[in-house]
Amino acid sequence: MRLSQTLLPTLKEDPVEAQVVSHKLMLRSGMIRQLGAGIYSWLPLGLRVLRKVENIVREEMDRAGAQEVLLPAVQPAELWQETGRWSKYGAELLRFKDRGDRDFCFGPTHEEVITDLVRHELRSYKQLPANFYQIQTKFRDEVRPRFGIMRGREFLMKDAYSFDLDQESLDNSYKQMFTAYQNIFKRCGLQFRAVEADSGAIGGSDSHEFHVLADSGEDAIASCDSCDYAANLEKAVAGGSPEAVPAGADMQKVATPEIKSIDDVAGFFNISADKTVKALLVQTDKGEFMLLLRGDHELNEIKAENYLDGDGFKLVEPGAVQKSTGVSVGSLGPVGATTPIIADNSLAGMSDFICGANEDGFHLTGVNWERDLPLPKFADLRNVQAGDLCSRCGAGTLRLDRGIEVGHVFKLGDKYSKAMQMTVLNQGGREQTPLMGCYGIGVSRIVAAAIEQNHDDSGIVWPIFLAPFHVEILLINPKEEAAAKLAEEIYEYLKARGIEALLDDRNERLGVKFKDADLIGAPLRVVIGGRGIKDGAVEVQSRHDGVAEKVAIDAVGDLLLKRAEDLLKGGV
Ligand code: ATP
Ligand code: MG
Repeated sequence: MRLSQTLLPTLKEDPVEAQVVSHKLMLRSGMIRQLGAGIYSWLPLGLRVLRKVENIVREEMDRAGAQEVLLPAVQPAELWQETGRWSKYGAELLRFKDRGDRDFCFGPTHEEVITDLVRHELRSYKQLPANFYQIQTKFRDEVRPRFGIMRGREFLMKDAYSFDLDQESLDNSYKQMFTAYQNIFKRCGLQFRAVEADSGAIGGSDSHEFHVLADSGEDAIASCDSCDYAANLEKAVAGGSPEAVPAGADMQKVATPEIKSIDDVAGFFNISADKTVKALLVQTDKGEFMLLLRGDHELNEIKAENYLDGDGFKLVEPGAVQKSTGVSVGSLGPVGATTPIIADNSLAGMSDFICGANEDGFHLTGVNWERDLPLPKFADLRNVQAGDLCSRCGAGTLRLDRGIEVGHVFKLGDKYSKAMQMTVLNQGGREQTPLMGCYGIGVSRIVAAAIEQNHDDSGIVWPIFLAPFHVEILLINPKEEAAAKLAEEIYEYLKARGIEALLDDRNERLGVKFKDADLIGAPLRVVIGGRGIKDGAVEVQSRHDGVAEKVAIDAVGDLLLKRAEDLLKGGV
């Protein structure tokens, strides 16, 4: 590609709207431009990278035996009504009507569409297992689109759906996809981790997410420092069961005026927060529940929602707590409470604890189970913390890292096939409902995630397989004839040998050209012109380590070819 003829609008300054480095660099290097909230155009440079990711994904999906299809983006409401998701999916689903007043949505995911296709086309067990995938634009009306294309509303996803006759076969399909995902993220040059993920209301099924490790990640992931346990914070479980300590104190009611938060309580009584118990009121369609947590722990809403297994789970607002219980949030407590209570497991071994007295302006100290209040139901309700014991090996401790979710594999079971009455004839000639798996990859998100992991102060440092160009040929002055001719020759030479080169043949100041080359981040750079030409030499530089060397003009084509090929072989 010749830069003089390419739309590559680089920016000198960080755009004010960008918070994370990948968003800044994608705008600055002219890869993308915003059209509306969470909606972006891909410019030539960005599109080249997006296509590279897409190709890696396609090759590995094909290798794993999946078949590529392309399903419609616009989906009729009737399909979503069949599975009940038309009403359940919520505001993320972009709904609209056609001229005949019929309801449609723009697909945020394609379980219904693929199941509809397959229920018409697959008739026999002999056609299973089958796995169909597509690489396609999705739309989700995200509440908070941000970080550029990392959390867009319109984005490119690879989604795949497997159909198997029985659980063993589904387990096998799942494993194949898991391996394909590992290959994909490795080939993209990403540092990633596969973690156990919450499988939501479907329950019981396996689900793993693939996270790219980066401080800007929206997810917290827990992992053990001594075994291979790793899980999304949504799901991570801490190990170790607390030993019950016998009660030593009497229960007392203490006036605590102006005391509202757990920090206030701990300060007032001069104790650490782990000696206190906090109460939260939540609501589902089954009614109100009081959840108890140790003062220093955080509620995990997903665990609580899964445990209560009701619709419309939400925390009761502070104002509404007063209305419902007669006390303010800060004084809410379990002793004498009439709401059903569920306590986090870590409370089982607590004794002599401090909690709200269920009376404004008072707390109770020296509270003990069974003596002062009945034993509640116990469940895992909290987020794990760094330093918690690992629940798998019981020996290691958990650490927390930030991750960007780039992929998700999920055993769906018969949720969709059953709801949509998809059956095939089994070996016995009977109708049988196949089991499904679904497998997503955020193709466009990978581009941003790769930049989060591969950049320096001057710009992007592309891993070779995602690089928009392998080599940038920086021509100092296009009016310098000998240099321009050499640059053209090298450009053609590399192109003919499958090496992708960008020729900066613009009439621009040298400083601008160097800055842009750093920003764009091609792994190899050759600088042609100026004094070097008279000495019969050019300069070749690596973007990774910045090391530059003088190379004789006659040798430069072959040297660049070899360097690029070595990189492509090594995959760095
Ligand atoms: P998230 O928790 O990040 O919203 P999700 O669980 O909703 O993701 P899936 O439904 O599993 O995502 O979609 C498959 C993949 O699509 C995700 O792993 C992610 O990489 C990507 N993805 C999801 N939402 C977005 C988005 N708004 N913008 C870009 N990529 C996305
Ligand atoms: Mg989402």
